Amino acid sequence: MKAGELRGRLPIPIIPTMIDPFGRAITYLRVSVTDRCDLRCVYCMPETMRFLPKRDVLSLEETQRLCEAFIRLGVRKLRLTGGEPLVRRDVITLIRALGRRVGDGGLDELTLTTNGTQLARFAGDLAAAGMRRINVSIDSLDPDRFATITRGGDLPRVLDGVAAARAAGLAVKINMVALSGVNDGEYDRMLAWCGEAGLDLCLIETMPLGEIEGGRAGRYLSLAELRRDLETRWTLAPSDHVTGGPARYVRVAETGRRLGFITPMSHNFCEGCNRVRVTCTGTLYPCLGQEDAADLRAPLRASESDEVLEAAIRDAIARKPKGHDFVIDRADDGPSVSRHMSVTGG
Ligand code: SAM
Ligand code: SF4
Repeated sequence: MKAGELRGRLPIPIIPTMIDPFGRAITYLRVSVTDRCDLRCVYCMPETMRFLPKRDVLSLEETQRLCEAFIRLGVRKLRLTGGEPLVRRDVITLIRALGRRVGDGGLDELTLTTNGTQLARFAGDLAAAGMRRINVSIDSLDPDRFATITRGGDLPRVLDGVAAARAAGLAVKINMVALSGVNDGEYDRMLAWCGEAGLDLCLIETMPLGEIEGGRAGRYLSLAELRRDLETRWTLAPSDHVTGGPARYVRVAETGRRLGFITPMSHNFCEGCNRVRVTCTGTLYPCLGQEDAADLRAPLRASESDEVLEAAIRDAIARKPKGHDFVIDRADDGPSVSRHMSVTGG
């Protein structure tokens, strides 16, 4: 039954929605709680990444207030990200507060994207706060290659984190960025491991966000091609599973697990976009792949009332562009947008 219809004689409250100029309802918010990270993945940021001064970053209370404003305006799903969200001091207090909104029906879902380094410590708390599923980024199951891609990451520690999350009852989806010449010998192994460990897998095309050493053209791998290759060895059955995110899913018959493809480059998915992102400084990006942004920190700090803040959010949604213009090729190997993924949040 839809909002507004009658169940028996009781009217169901109409849930407010933000509708963008292309008729898309904005119901999904990704919030970056920090730009900092304890890893330096080669495709995400340069080795010498400079992080923001702390004074520019929203307090956890401000972040919560911001999230509450979005919930009032119709957001139903919230993902915390970064940088690495679990390195933000006291982030669990924010997670508990937002988890209560799942409990009282304000949100359908609260979730998290993490690199897993701190997961063993936090898994129980996340589950207790009302989280049901999380995404963990692992681009290689080879410890040396993992350390190279992340510039120093410790794979066993991340795998312990995944095990702790499963033990705490969290569903885990692995995010793996497909990197030509780096991890392209590993897709079969990753699919098999996810099958054994009871995890879904999501493959992601590398996107041209922010300067990195060496550019991205040599590392870009089209998932359309990779899927054709996987189909020669795995039975990929169509699946109508949707998570509210950008992935398209198949079911891997041999493992029974889902496999998702996020293909911003080879198959633009903007027509169904329901998402906006807020950085840890309170900047709202209506589109991951465009520079247009709205400052929400000033209205947030200008007044204790949320009227100005909500007006600023509505204004920005009214400007949400139709889609991104990502390009990666050897003739044009610079970033399409200047900020790194760790700033906007994945
Ligand atoms: N630190 C956390 C993590 O790694 O999961 C959360 C933030 S990270 C920016 C979120 C996701 O974005 C990760 O799965 C990461 O692999 C992905 N990512 C980062 N830079 C990317 C890029 N340029 N293109 C595609 N995916 C990227
Ligand atoms: Fe950190 Fe995540 Fe970026 Fe890797 S992808 S450097 S873990 S923010």
